[in-house]
Order: sequence, then structure tokens, then C-alpha cells
Amino acid sequence: MIKIIIIFCLSTLVWAYPQGLKTIVLDAGHGGKDPGTQGKTLREKDLVLDVTLELGKLLEKKYPKLNVIYTRKDDTFIPLIERAQIANKNKAQLFISIHANAGKPEYQGVETYVVSADRVKTTIDVATRENSAIYLEENAQDDYKAFIQANPEFYLEQALLQKAFEQQSIEFAQYVQKSIVEKTKTSNRSVKQAGFVVLFLTQMPSILIEIGFLSNTAEEKRLSDVTYQKELAEGIFNAIKTYKEDFDLLHQTIEKSQNESNKSKRITYAVQIASSKKEMDMQAYNFKGLKQVKRIQTQDVYFYYLGEHFDREEVEKTRLSILDKYPDAFIIALEQEKKVSLPKK
Ligand SMILES: [Zn+2]
Repeated sequence: MIKIIIIFCLSTLVWAYPQGLKTIVLDAGHGGKDPGTQGKTLREKDLVLDVTLELGKLLEKKYPKLNVIYTRKDDTFIPLIERAQIANKNKAQLFISIHANAGKPEYQGVETYVVSADRVKTTIDVATRENSAIYLEENAQDDYKAFIQANPEFYLEQALLQKAFEQQSIEFAQYVQKSIVEKTKTSNRSVKQAGFVVLFLTQMPSILIEIGFLSNTAEEKRLSDVTYQKELAEGIFNAIKTYKEDFDLLHQTIEKSQNESNKSKRITYAVQIASSKKEMDMQAYNFKGLKQVKRIQTQDVYFYYLGEHFDREEVEKTRLSILDKYPDAFIIALEQEKKVSLPKK
């Protein structure tokens, strides 16, 4: 059942991306002057970079043709707007932001976020932890606020776009949650919606994964283990693999049926010059010297035509050019080598 729903939801996307899933952006949160949340020993910016690079490696190995783009591959500070722009400019079809969490000491496990456009405005006013990067850019909070206030149309367009991608994002987020929990056996804190600016600014299905709590001593210990980091990366990788396979398979099916229906519905035009009950020999002398005449049979009548073309205007030119020989020549419509009624102009 889940699969059917996913395919149904993916179908709208496939039209927009006729080549299947080709480009993914991996976004390691924070970086440079913005360390993110800090545990006793681990810093979020370092941990999420390691997991992101590991995930990228798995993707590149499995899909050499997949375009894997990183917003950062080292300890660099990248503004939120720029992260989204990297994805938008490259026409990515999936945006995955990787973060680590902080909260009450007993909190642990993984949660995956999808943007809620309604909450973005609130987020810009009330800074949350993940958007604290905003504060690290001088006056940047005002920049985002001013930017959105000065561009209400952009906000509305973006909100509509995110709304359009919401279902795909949620489905993918559910894949990711399930897959990470299966792989790591960590607590499932489920898929949630929030007003993350970075997700709001992208123009494709986008998710933000909180891979675990650095504020939980036991979880921080697990997260510092390279084997566990690899398991996390594998969990996310498996979800992408399932999503990509569904996406590509559906794309192939749709492309095939689209081609077939185009082919069957393709009407051509031609100039009919003669008809006969008796089959005529296809020689130019039988057609006043005209070459390339073709013949079709409908019941017991043979029709002779030439100048077949998809463009009716072109066929009209042909008709005019042979009027001296065939003044009664007229245009007919053909579909799969059969005469059909002439569509109205
Ligand atoms: Zn973070």
C-alpha cells in the first residue's frame, strides 16, 4: 500500500524530471565559525560532515552516473541561502540536510524534518537552534526577514512550491526514518514538520535529518563511533536507493506509455489525388508524372496520395503545387496508415 501511494505521489515529479533521478544535494549542516550543537566531545559540524561524506561515497560507488553535489566538503561556513541556491542552480531533485540534535538529557534517537511553509515566517521571527546560523552572519536574521518581506511574491511562490513538494518530501522522510532505525536500532522519533529556512528555500523535495542527540551521553558515545557513523550513512543510503529505484522505474513506465500514446495519436496529412476500385500500378506515368505516390486501401477502394506530413500547412503547399495536374486534389488525414476524418482547423 505504501508503495502505491509513493508511486502515485512521485508521478507528478517524474513529468518535471524526464531523465529520472540524476542530481542529489548533500548538505552537511553548519561548518566554519558555526559549530552547531556541542556534546561533551563531539561537535555537530564535524560529525555531520563525516556522515555526509560517507553517504556521498556510498552513492558515488553505487551510482557512478548520479550527480552528487555537496554544499561543503570541509569545515567551511556556508550561509543558508547559499546552500539552497546550490541545490536550485544545479536543478537537484533531492536535497538532504544532515544535522545532530540537542535537547533534554534523556532524549535520544533520530528524527527527520520536512518544511512547513506556514511555520517559516514564525521561524524567522523566533530563531530556533538549527537556524542559529542566521545569527552568525552579521544582521543576517534581518536580511532573511527583510528579504521575504520585500519579496512577498517570492515567499508565496516558494510556499506554493514547497506545498507541491510536501507529499514527496514526507514520503522520502518516512523512507529515511524507517531505514535508519532498521540499520542502527536507534529510537524512532518520527517524521516532523518545522520551519527550517534552508528547506523552505529549495525548489525540490527536501528533508533535514537529525541523526541523534549530542546532549545524550550514551548517544554521543555511539555517534562518535566510526562504525555507527557508517551505519547511519548506510541507513540514509538505503532510503535513497529505494526512492531512486521507484522514481526511475516509474519514469521508464511513464515515458514508454507516453511514447506509445503519442505514436498512436499522431495524425499526419497528405494530398489525395485519385481513387480507384481497381488497383493501379504504382508508376509515375499513372499519376501524370508525379513520383512518390502512395496507396492505401479502405474496404474495396484504393486511395492514392502524396506529400504526407505532420504539418498541415506543408501539405497545403504540396496541394497547391500540383493543382495544374490534379485540380480536384484535396487534403486527407491519416492515422497509423488509415484514412481518418479530417480534424477541424
Ligand atoms: Zn544543526
